[in-house]
Amino acid sequence: MALWRALLLLMHCRAITAASGSFWHVTDLHLEPQYQPTPDPLKVCPSAGTQPVVNAGAWGNYLCDAPWGLVNSSIYAMKTILPNPDFILWTGDDTPHVPNEKLGEEAVLEIIEKLTNLIKRVFPDTQVYPAMGNHDFHPKSQLPAKENRVYNATADLWSPWLNNHSVKTFRAAAFYTQMLPGPGPARRMVVLNTNLYYENNNQTISLEDPGGQFQWLQDTLSRASKAKEKVYIIGHVPPGFFEKKRGKAWFREHFNQRYTEIIRKHHDVVVAQFFGHHHTDSFRMFYSNTGAPISVMFLAPAVTPWKTTLPGVHNGANNPGIRVFTYDHDTLLVKDMITYYLNLTQANLVAPQWEKEYSLTEAFQIPDGSVGSMQLLLEKLEKDSGHLQRYYQYNSVQYDLTDCDISCQTDHICAIREVASANYNQCIKDRSATAASSIPGLDLLLFGCVMGLITLGLWGSLSRLGHKQDSTASTQAQRKHRM
Ligand SMILES: [Zn+2]
Ligand SMILES: [Zn+2]
Repeated sequence: MALWRALLLLMHCRAITAASGSFWHVTDLHLEPQYQPTPDPLKVCPSAGTQPVVNAGAWGNYLCDAPWGLVNSSIYAMKTILPNPDFILWTGDDTPHVPNEKLGEEAVLEIIEKLTNLIKRVFPDTQVYPAMGNHDFHPKSQLPAKENRVYNATADLWSPWLNNHSVKTFRAAAFYTQMLPGPGPARRMVVLNTNLYYENNNQTISLEDPGGQFQWLQDTLSRASKAKEKVYIIGHVPPGFFEKKRGKAWFREHFNQRYTEIIRKHHDVVVAQFFGHHHTDSFRMFYSNTGAPISVMFLAPAVTPWKTTLPGVHNGANNPGIRVFTYDHDTLLVKDMITYYLNLTQANLVAPQWEKEYSLTEAFQIPDGSVGSMQLLLEKLEKDSGHLQRYYQYNSVQYDLTDCDISCQTDHICAIREVASANYNQCIKDRSATAASSIPGLDLLLFGCVMGLITLGLWGSLSRLGHKQDSTASTQAQRKHRM
């Protein structure tokens, strides 16, 4: 009897294991081919601009994009940690943050090829789903909604990972869809070129639906729904707002609206979304018209440690990060997300060591990465500043360990909760008003003012009384004098 029970348990465990899979998400490698750790602080890396880079180490610097050694180290760390993932998500931005004049179409394509070859060499048998970033074009961010040399050359480089139909749509506007590998129910990957919606992209400024991508996405998701498929959506530039700069949206407003509408309409098939571009570790929630949580987008940290020069962002660097998702093979449910990182300071001082930063379910005590669990996490962040502080340290991959104050908390909570711009603005307004009314110092100040006014009032009455008495006395004296 006991043997039967043990066998049944074993079969059950095998079934659970068989249903689980894992995949990598790596993004924003931003290779800096000219990085050199020289003692001359102005000659370390062009991506630092005019900022002096002192004590540049072999593995990189927070003011610079990633040297080849760091890029290599990140891909080989993936191989060491999880050598046989089901697939790899690679969401773009391969070139350094330098002025357009310092790059060119050839230089951009060379870097895309270099990174593609590295990933192919380290993971020769793994399906990779690459997406283009706004830095994977020359001039940067100007990705057109039509066929061009860069899309064609990149489609050739990525053709071992793309099927014929994907190559065709990629050449046209750099988006595609494919079925996920392996047996089981139908599961689909949708790879978007959201650089077409980026507000810095002047090529698409007057277009309603650049490249017909929105229509294509809607049709793809409708068909997926009819075929009972489950879908992951990936891309580079995300919709919504940047949590490190108040009011900073990436999509043009009408594109942001259209994207959220499509997610609202088709959320039943979209199990999760995976994006990059922020270089920070965060997530975004999507809601129905009645306020029910319906979708989640995971934003992965960058490999480059480069401190952003975006005006208004304070100390926006990060440690290099890479992450593994475990998921249910059949339903695509995200079971957990484990982020690994390299402490760049330590790497330069001692040796590079990629280590586990955190697991989503362990760190925040939530069951999985489903929409419901991520909503639970958001509520924890809203209620508990301890949880929010923990999230905040993960946000920069342990680079910024300072306290996230009330204003910072508002920026993060509203960016996570509200992708639509009107709701985001309202969230900022509401939280700022609540924060202002609950500042203890302000209460004290108000109390002090009231007390002061009361005191002044009393003093005024007393002095008026005194003055009255004085004046009565003086009138009497005057009278006396007059008399
Ligand atoms: Zn980037
Ligand atoms: Zn980007």
